[in-house]
Amino acid sequence: MKILVVEDERLLSESLCELLASHGFEAEPVYDGEAGLEYAMTGVYDLIMLDVMLPGMDGFALARRLRGRHVGTPILMLTARSGLDDRVEGLNSGADYYLAKPFDTRELMACINAILRRQGAQVDELRFGDTALDLPSAALVRGELSSRLSAREFEMARCLFAAGERIISKQTLLVKVWGWESDAVENHVEVYVGFLRKKLASIGSNVKIKSVRSLGYHLEVDGGD
Ligand code: CA
Repeated sequence: MKILVVEDERLLSESLCELLASHGFEAEPVYDGEAGLEYAMTGVYDLIMLDVMLPGMDGFALARRLRGRHVGTPILMLTARSGLDDRVEGLNSGADYYLAKPFDTRELMACINAILRRQGAQVDELRFGDTALDLPSAALVRGELSSRLSAREFEMARCLFAAGERIISKQTLLVKVWGWESDAVENHVEVYVGFLRKKLASIGSNVKIKSVRSLGYHLEVDGGD
C-alpha cells in the first residue's frame, strides 16, 4: 500500500519512510505543500500523512483543497501543535486523525492501522464471490484450493479485490503496481490480468475480472444476479 508523507523536516521524513517501509508500506516523501497537493490529487495513495507547518501551503489548507476537489484519501495529520484549536481546525479541514509530535512509533502504527481498517483496507483477507485473497500468504483461496501469487500479481489482485465491483482504471493499476518510475505500459496490466484470470480459474473460482472497454477492470461473480 502506498502512503504519501508530506513533511518538510528531512530527518523526520526519512525516519517515517523507513518505519513505514519496515511495516510493508511503500512510502513516498514530498517536502512542501504544493508538491503534497499535486501528488495527493492523483488519488493513488491509500493514506496521506500530513504535517501542519509546511513551506508554502500549510497542512490545513492542503487538506481543505483536497476535500474541496473530492479526493477522499484518508489524512493523518502530524504536528507539533497540539492545542485544542489546532486539533479542531485539523479535523474541520478534512483530516481523519490528528497525532501530536513527538509521537510514539507504536501509537503511530496503531493509528495508521485503525484508519486503514476503517477503510476496509488493512485486513487479513479480501473476499469477493466464493474467493478470498489471503494477504499474509499472498494467495487466492477457495475452500481447500489455493494458488500462490507473485509479488506483482498479488499487488494487482489486492487493488482489484479492494475495488470489487467498482471499476479501477488501467492507469491506476499501472501506478499502484509498478509505480511512477517504471517503464511499464498498459499492456503489462493486461498481461497480469491474464495471469490472474488463469489462477482464479485454476481454483475453480466464480470471480471474473471483467474488462470495461477504455475504462478499466472490475470484479464480477460468474452466474450471479
Ligand atoms: Ca513542518
